[in-house]
Amino acid sequence: MSRIIVENGIRKVLPHYVNFKTHPKKRWVGKTLVELFKHDFGEPESLILDDIASGSLYVENNVGTSKPSSTLKGIEVLKDRRIELKDLIHYCKHVHEPSIAWNGPVKVIFEDDDVIVVDKPAGIPTHPTGAYNYNTFSAIVKDTYGLESIWTCHRLDKVTSGILILCKNKEAAVGYSNLLVSKKDSVKKTYLARVDGKFPEGKYRYTCPTITINMNGYIEPDNLEALKADTSTLFERVRYNENLNQSIVKCQPISGKFHQIRIHLTRLGYPISNDYFYKPKDESSTYALRCKIEHELYAMLFKKFPQFSQMRGDLDTGEDEIKTVDMKAVLNDDANESQVFETLARLKAEHSAHINMRKKTRCKECNRLVFEESYVSVDSRIYLHSLSFEFGDSKFETDLPSWSLV
Ligand SMILES: [Zn+2]
Repeated sequence: MSRIIVENGIRKVLPHYVNFKTHPKKRWVGKTLVELFKHDFGEPESLILDDIASGSLYVENNVGTSKPSSTLKGIEVLKDRRIELKDLIHYCKHVHEPSIAWNGPVKVIFEDDDVIVVDKPAGIPTHPTGAYNYNTFSAIVKDTYGLESIWTCHRLDKVTSGILILCKNKEAAVGYSNLLVSKKDSVKKTYLARVDGKFPEGKYRYTCPTITINMNGYIEPDNLEALKADTSTLFERVRYNENLNQSIVKCQPISGKFHQIRIHLTRLGYPISNDYFYKPKDESSTYALRCKIEHELYAMLFKKFPQFSQMRGDLDTGEDEIKTVDMKAVLNDDANESQVFETLARLKAEHSAHINMRKKTRCKECNRLVFEESYVSVDSRIYLHSLSFEFGDSKFETDLPSWSLV
């Protein structure tokens, strides 16, 4: 029986069991399993204990070391045991995958024996991530074309539309991934964004570290002591619509950091017009609280390094560019530091309460609160489109998105 149902433009995945295997992140080390799943993932303590007792949540220790590895199971062993870096956490979970809006068909830009290049709609994750496993665009393409397997070799965020290169076999995936790394300097990705305000005419380069606040109250990336600072995006205004007071801007990320274009546009004061994450509609929402913390962090950074607050001419590559920034030191030097951490804790609490409020039903099988089957997050598409992808002699390009024709 298929576990996928598509009806009324919504693609639903029936609940199913998945065996997750996870290596701990540094920040998990020293916590117990209960502390981790309760505080970091908002799971109720009683259910975590049930899962440990039943053996669906357990740990394999000393993985990848010369020491013998053993399987640790059960409440007595795991209740107070602290997570170690060389653990492998096994969790067999009943998964309730979120539904996505999908009407088809797949727009194919190029295809040969090795690759299929498609125009991904916004609002669908590229590959399995977080709560998504089957509701991904690579799975949709795989099912549509009856492919045995499919590989992705670059990233394209869920909220973003545009060029997605998918490989049909492992050799092509390895080849493409290597090519993209070895030709890194000749890979040119061009995006289009629709932003608030009158973006200045001309070509610019903006260099600024990217920091983002996770809804669970973490600052990312977590290597704050050596935060990459040579993160640059080239910008060029395509047109300005006076009635809307919005601009269409071509964006070319030189590096490819998480949410780089969205963060850079926000820091410059031209956020993507419908980007709920960086430009929340509701000032009292948890997203607004998240943005407030980010804004404070950047205010501290700009005070210490004013050069990160402005764009330069596109040819000004800045020979004396700072390679890394010690953001921890910036935080420590600032009197607002403790306030930032207090607000992070508040964000985490409010966010998990908010998520649980939106979950209306309880699963009879795993006893967890879950979203309604037909629930589709409304804010999962933004005006950011990957328009073209060039490397070596190859160039893939999509049509212009309709929102860019204003
Ligand atoms: Zn369930």
